[in-house]
Amino acid sequence: MKEIVEVAIGLPIPKAFHYRIPEKMKDSLQIGMRVLVPFKGRKVTGFTLDLLDHPPKGIEGKLLDVEDLLDEIPLIDAGMLRFYRWISDYYIYPLGEVIKTGLPPGLHLKSEPLLTLTGEGIRSLAQGELDPIQENVFREIQRHGKVPLKRLLTLFPEELTRAKILSWRKHGFLDLEDGIKSKEVKPKLEKVVEIAGGEPDKLLSKKRKEILEWLKEKGKVSYSELNKRFKSPSMPLQFLQAAGLITLSRREVSRDLSVRSDLKPYSKPELNRDQEVVLAEVLKGIHSKRFSPFLLHGVTASGKTEIYLRAIEEVLAQGREAIVLVPEISLTPQLLSRFKDRFGENLALLHSGLGKGERFDQWRKIRKGEVSIVIGARSAIFAPFQRLGIIIVDEEHDPSYKQEEKLKYHARDLAVVRAKQVEATLLLGSATPSLESYYNAEKGRFRLLHLPERIEGKHLPRVDVLDIKKESGLFSEKVKTALQKNIEEKKQSLLFLNRRGFASFILCPDCGFTFKCPNCSVTLTYHLGDRSLQCHYCDYRIQAPADCPRCQGHQLRGMGIGTERLEEEIRTLFPGAQVERMDRDTTTRKNSHHHILKRFESGDIDILVGTQMIVKGHDFPKVTFVGVISADTSLHFPDFRSSERTFQLLTQVAGRAGRGESPGEVIIQTYNPDHYSIQRAREHDFSGFYREEIHFRKDLEYPPFSRLINFKLSGNSEKRTKSAAEEMGKIGQTLLKKGYGKGIEVLGPSTAPFAKVRGKFRWQMLAKGKSSRWLHQFSQALAARMEDQTKGKGISLDIDVDPVSIL
Ligand SMILES: [Zn+2]
Ligand SMILES: [Zn+2]
Repeated sequence: MKEIVEVAIGLPIPKAFHYRIPEKMKDSLQIGMRVLVPFKGRKVTGFTLDLLDHPPKGIEGKLLDVEDLLDEIPLIDAGMLRFYRWISDYYIYPLGEVIKTGLPPGLHLKSEPLLTLTGEGIRSLAQGELDPIQENVFREIQRHGKVPLKRLLTLFPEELTRAKILSWRKHGFLDLEDGIKSKEVKPKLEKVVEIAGGEPDKLLSKKRKEILEWLKEKGKVSYSELNKRFKSPSMPLQFLQAAGLITLSRREVSRDLSVRSDLKPYSKPELNRDQEVVLAEVLKGIHSKRFSPFLLHGVTASGKTEIYLRAIEEVLAQGREAIVLVPEISLTPQLLSRFKDRFGENLALLHSGLGKGERFDQWRKIRKGEVSIVIGARSAIFAPFQRLGIIIVDEEHDPSYKQEEKLKYHARDLAVVRAKQVEATLLLGSATPSLESYYNAEKGRFRLLHLPERIEGKHLPRVDVLDIKKESGLFSEKVKTALQKNIEEKKQSLLFLNRRGFASFILCPDCGFTFKCPNCSVTLTYHLGDRSLQCHYCDYRIQAPADCPRCQGHQLRGMGIGTERLEEEIRTLFPGAQVERMDRDTTTRKNSHHHILKRFESGDIDILVGTQMIVKGHDFPKVTFVGVISADTSLHFPDFRSSERTFQLLTQVAGRAGRGESPGEVIIQTYNPDHYSIQRAREHDFSGFYREEIHFRKDLEYPPFSRLINFKLSGNSEKRTKSAAEEMGKIGQTLLKKGYGKGIEVLGPSTAPFAKVRGKFRWQMLAKGKSSRWLHQFSQALAARMEDQTKGKGISLDIDVDPVSIL
């Protein structure tokens, strides 16, 4: 009998803890289950990692008991645990927090202090002896019986402090107890009524008889269905149950997803020659049942999706399962409907647009083996399949695969790791592969596959680059002419500008004043819709004033353009045209992007204006013209990947043109017409771009020729964050001297490109090196030594490992 359990706690604490298993749990507790354990005066959720016969030496006397067992069957199997351990190690992130990231939300219980009134408290309230705030607070507690301390603090943010509440407790008015937050998501149940089979031994009333007859026909129905058919059926049902004629029970139902496909059906096409060659290679990998990594480089509209669908068909035929990652799934209803048309209900969806309960249900379907395919955004890489046969990463270059908060994982990189661990096929697809993946393919680590041409003999669009230094106004004459022509010919146009809002900032020409966000080191964007000034990094928002707050001048002026202004100008220029805008501002409501795309597909919109939301893999045959209003936004971003990002965006957006019967045309407006990102995008020349970019990376020893780890410090106090950063620099140098990181170069510390975001001051230090092992060792040592600098000082250290594509 195992006595001790090793537990990873879902808190930012790196090590695992041991607890004693109470007698009553010894039979049922297994590895991979959740337990509730006492931790520093609270109760927290932990994940069972191991069961031991004896406690580790030295802590025998200090062990506490497991408080509660939260699962009946394990949530995590051995394979997933191995995957989570790898992630925790590689990203230097606590295992409990990694597991929490991988599980659906709502499974994490924590205790919290609850307040109740004592007899003395009730008496004082009744006699009106209290000051007004005390009275309000006590009434609130009386009304609910028990109130979480945290809730009181949010209800009375101005008047109440934790210290004040504790002093009332000291005076005997309040009691404090430990309660468990009941936010846990549970399976949704419904009542069902079922015929039991027997015959009535006496005459039934009319209604009872009717219900029984109806049930005989149906066999088993949900109570709600029965309730629709018969008015107030509960009394007759009780009678029928008591007579043993029916049974009442509960069954689990899935919270239905609102993603219903109402797009055009997609029938199975014939493969062309290139597709056949590519598919044959992928099938070889699938049949080998070994780790088989592929990089599929296919130009836009070359039929990559059909390759994915056929590969999955083969995997399903083997009785195995498939994970399909797509960037921002909520933006790709078309892809989703193609999967539904092919695989019907054998499909689960995982992405952040779903509600907690919906996500939980989808996850359980996967865990129970009720579906064989999951399609989702980056978090779908954690889908708990047990017979995984293939992982597909569509648009593998897309930056949204990187999680930028908390655990900074890259889903494409994790796809490589997981496929390797379970001996599955890996298929990365893109029209613009990341430099890292393409380099790996060149080195033979991935098998490179090509789809060099569009399907059905269609051609890539003609792309023109226009120098806007020579133009006045937002659009060149050429763009206007192209739009006009398309409106007349009833064809559709897309206009792309990667910046939302009306004006990027407001300037006072009299004194030079600009509006800055008080929490972030950025200017505020002007939004005409609600006449507000907004920060795009935090939620700060103010009403736009009429006059300059510094010199009271009346000439405040919007500078720089956003999609909102673009839309307005287009409406003025083409008053008869149907114009629509798609960006974060117009798609805040659930499914609103879906409605816009549907209207666009049906031809109700002539011109669609938008940010990179319109770039994602949409397939609209009537789009023949794409205009890029400014190609320069991404080019000047302070990041060594800015050229790559620009090339990818331009290629992807240009790829929306000419997918139907008529050829496409693209115009790119830019201040940098000669830049190689723009020139190579004009020529649809990925390999040309790759050759130039890889040179630059090699010269500067950037990835893929080195690996990077960014140590990001952030804190509320400018002074303390700076001094912690300086200390980090010293520790880094000391470690290097001691031989911790061979061949590692440390850059910084310096302030981050955005020195302040959401009120936090940010510093960073970059470690660059060729050996992942040495970098890792260095990072771990640095993180351990930085604990004293950050702990209890309101400063946090985030370790950001740069994606490498193969590990
Ligand atoms: Zn801000
Ligand atoms: Zn001014």
